[in-house]
Amino acid sequence: MGKLVRCITSDGLVAASAIDSTDIAARAEQIHKTSAVVTAALGRLLTAASLMGSALKGADQTMTLRVKGDGPIGHLIAVSDAQGNVRGYPGNPVVELPLNSHGKLDVGGAVGKGTLTVCKDLGLKEPYNGMIELVSGEIAEDIAAYYGISEQIPTVCALGVLVNPDLTVRAAGGYLIQLLPAAGEDTIDKLEQALKGVPAVTQMLDGGMNPEQILHRAMHGFELEVLEATQPVYRCNCDKQRVIRALRSIGATELRQLAAQQPQTEVECQFCDRKYVFSDQELLQISRECASGQ
Ligand SMILES: [Zn+2]
Repeated sequence: MGKLVRCITSDGLVAASAIDSTDIAARAEQIHKTSAVVTAALGRLLTAASLMGSALKGADQTMTLRVKGDGPIGHLIAVSDAQGNVRGYPGNPVVELPLNSHGKLDVGGAVGKGTLTVCKDLGLKEPYNGMIELVSGEIAEDIAAYYGISEQIPTVCALGVLVNPDLTVRAAGGYLIQLLPAAGEDTIDKLEQALKGVPAVTQMLDGGMNPEQILHRAMHGFELEVLEATQPVYRCNCDKQRVIRALRSIGATELRQLAAQQPQTEVECQFCDRKYVFSDQELLQISRECASGQ
């Protein structure tokens, strides 16, 4: 049984995917020690990235989602590979806001107004970039708007993260339903009818439903064929070489200053909890490399 399923209706008119991303959102919370509203915001973006990334065709392709808002979180980044394995980080991990008027974590308020950028690196010379203005900052609506505006694909997106009182993640998941070009008005009507009264994703997950059952519930009346079932995880692919490249961008002068201040400098990966230690000699070596433009 996969944590992420990708399906198509037997008439070939609607594509749908769903994920139980509880483990992914829980790992993100563990790494970034986020407050509840940031856990929800980052968890939703990671869930969306995994759903979107898993549709990529090439093994080396990646999908990056960037949310940049004027709210207290600042920005959110989530990167997915073609298997739906994801990593991400928030600009500000600790934001405390009162619940919104629906009694829910105020993700829209924490994100604010701004933009969503989707970058698909398909291994070509230039990555594909699409950007839209955020609709609500609640993430799911913004993802649906991105597909509608940038890719002209009518899309329904639902995302949810349920946070326990002790700030751990109780449940997280989502689904993405997309009309394929041949779908007509009757399919749209049928889907709208099906989606009426569908419970929140987290409620369905919390009630023990798996991603396939969630899709059957959301798309009642459609016959679904499973194309693929996978087990995406939170995964960072950092190594010392990547950290060195990031250090070079700081600049030679700053690196020399760091080296002069302390015998060892610890650098933490932005995406995971791995730490890399550099001696003053190593930093000086890197500063010489950036000074000589290597
Ligand atoms: Zn890392």
